[in-house]
Amino acid sequence: MLRVIFGGTFDPIHNGHVLTSLAAFQLLKGDQLQVMPSAQPPHRDSLGASPSQRLAMVRLAYAEQPDVCAEPWELQRERTSYSLLTLQEMHRKWPQDHLVFLLGNDAFAKLHTWHGWQELLRVAHLAVMQRPHETKEWSPEVQALAQRSQVTDVAELHQASHGAIICLPTPEIAISATELRQAMAAHGAWEQHVPTEVAAYIKQQQLYQTG
Ligand code: ATP
Repeated sequence: MLRVIFGGTFDPIHNGHVLTSLAAFQLLKGDQLQVMPSAQPPHRDSLGASPSQRLAMVRLAYAEQPDVCAEPWELQRERTSYSLLTLQEMHRKWPQDHLVFLLGNDAFAKLHTWHGWQELLRVAHLAVMQRPHETKEWSPEVQALAQRSQVTDVAELHQASHGAIICLPTPEIAISATELRQAMAAHGAWEQHVPTEVAAYIKQQQLYQTG
């Protein structure tokens, strides 16, 4: 079974996350997409939803997708959300399965700053979502890693249990959670950038408001 793990802060989850992850999941021919909010969001501003609210929004965003689940893994553990530790734990829990860690090009470009980044490929594959016209701007360390491990055929992720990097073309949806939080605080336009159910939840819970 091919498990695709999509981690992020998701504060809040938006259409950029949802549409690109679903496109990537389809290209990967995955069996399950597990969308996993991280435990400790590195807040760059004072607005923010609680971990359980972020998880609830992820659940709502993919409610219509039978092969997608909101994954509380990192919220249930009293530690920093290191992707490596999570993937090692998942590998122990599901030793027969292939794990694919899905991330955006901007996150992959800085992979060498992650805890134990060189170990990631020992337990998982990496799938990098690339938008049209996106320049790579990978660090030299990341470039070297890609040179050793990059493949172009998704079949290789089904054949081997870990160790490959694949780049996937995904649609351009130019939005970030930071921009959304700022728009909400300033009473600007934001609703069209999140799934309808998520917009309703944000309003009902009165999230991202300033005083
Ligand atoms: P913030 O603005 O708070 O940093 P964000 O919108 O970038 O948030 P994250 O939760 O940090 O969202 O991102 C989770 C993952 O989703 C990362 O791998 C990131 O590269 C990817 N991602 C974020 N926004 C988009 C988008 N518009 N299109 C495709 N991928 C995205």
